[in-house]
Amino acid sequence: MQETREHAASYYAATRKPETNYPILEGEHRCDVAVVGAGFTGVSTALHLAERGYDVALIEANRVGWGASGRNGGQLIGGFADVGRIGKALGPDAAAMARQMGFESREILVQRVEKYSIDCDLKIGYLDVAMNDGDMRVFAGYLEEKKDAGYTHEMRIIPREEMPDYLGTDHYIGGLADYGNGHLHPLNLCIGEAYAAHELGAKVFEQSRVTRIHHGDKPFVETESGKVHANKIVLAGNGYLGNTEPKIRHKIILAGSYMIATEPLSDALVDELVPADWAFCEQTVGLNYFRLSPDKRMLFGGMCNYSGRDPKSITASLQPKMLKIFPQLRDTRIDYEWGGIIAISVKRIPQFGRIQGNTYYAQGYSGHGVAPTHLAGKMLADAIAGDSEQFDVFSKVRHLWLPGGKWFANPAMALGMMYFRLKELL
Ligand SMILES: Cc1cc2nc3c(=O)[nH]c(=O)nc-3n(C[C@H](O)[C@H](O)[C@H](O)COP(=O)(O)OP(=O)(O)OC[C@H]3O[C@@H](n4cnc5c(N)ncnc54)[C@H](O)[C@@H]3O)c2cc1C
Repeated sequence: MQETREHAASYYAATRKPETNYPILEGEHRCDVAVVGAGFTGVSTALHLAERGYDVALIEANRVGWGASGRNGGQLIGGFADVGRIGKALGPDAAAMARQMGFESREILVQRVEKYSIDCDLKIGYLDVAMNDGDMRVFAGYLEEKKDAGYTHEMRIIPREEMPDYLGTDHYIGGLADYGNGHLHPLNLCIGEAYAAHELGAKVFEQSRVTRIHHGDKPFVETESGKVHANKIVLAGNGYLGNTEPKIRHKIILAGSYMIATEPLSDALVDELVPADWAFCEQTVGLNYFRLSPDKRMLFGGMCNYSGRDPKSITASLQPKMLKIFPQLRDTRIDYEWGGIIAISVKRIPQFGRIQGNTYYAQGYSGHGVAPTHLAGKMLADAIAGDSEQFDVFSKVRHLWLPGGKWFANPAMALGMMYFRLKELL
């Protein structure tokens, strides 16, 4: 993937506000906590710490929100980890805790938007869409489980006959509506949260890649032109951290994920195709998801690519998937295409841990991180402040070490995904 220190060209980058222009890290600095990476994980951690009075330095290799956080589908989906897998790994109490944490992740994000008046086009309304009866059965179980666990937002099964109220396609046989989830402009959210942290005193540095981390009693991080000494370090580089910290790199698999944005649709097309201005998501492994932007573009995402190479043309790969659902868009121009990296945890449970006691990390949200990263930031801040209850539960999960990193692991992963895809098709 060809990357620069400026934002990748995307609909979000073209509509970001405000433009960020934090200084490059130069010289020596001291602080309580140095946070490496200004995506949602890093920004959320910095904001939680700054709110508690910590002296924080947030160090970003490119621009705030440059990574997956500024490029994603913008689908706000409460939830934290696969509760079933947590149950298997750590027992029923941990599973119940993870369920509540999923609810909490959504609340933290929405409260952030309200508290700091962040202009990120947040809209509530989300529909999981069903391709078959199996999906509908899963939805029914899911609805009961969430209600039993005390989920306070309305949820409702949408039968086929009501689907035209939401979508103008016969591709789906029904859905599960969730009035807690929704959609937003992820880059503007990330920029807004970084600004809030900065206003509370956090030092933010952009275009400053951390090249080395020095562990020990007095840890510090180094960039090309500066150093930050800190009592604690947080690694929030996730899928873009690369070799900065080899100890955690081999626990995740990297996958490319992609989106396209159409030209603005006419009012007539909007009324026909997406009468409810909600977010929509399929249940398949290489799931399609879509929603409207405020200026009425169809933002459509889907593919996952484990080869380590972007497709030759993102539009040529994604547009046919969109047209299968909405053939009415056949003459609609595609204005933007872009991709980003998602970090996948084989167990589909976000990874938390410590290195040498005073370096903390969180990574591996497996393509579902907009809300979970907001809780991750709180968990990291809590752990640094001495309350590590949630952090410790997750750091107990034993994650697979993938020898050879992405080059070894990805063919195996691709085969595994193909197996699940085949199962779906059958
Ligand atoms: C195309 C796409 C669509 C997605 N859609 C959704 C969705 O609709 N809903 C959802 O919930 N999730 C979605 N996700 C996943 C979600 O975006 C991620 O889980 C989440 O943004 C991860 O945030 P992060 O802060 O951990 O990582 P990132 O946002 O990737 O941020 C990491 C940051 O660290 C910086 N960095 C890395 N190394 C260093 C270093 N050495 N020094 C300094 N800085 C460094 C990078 O430049 C980057 O800015 C999607 C992801 C993609 C790619």
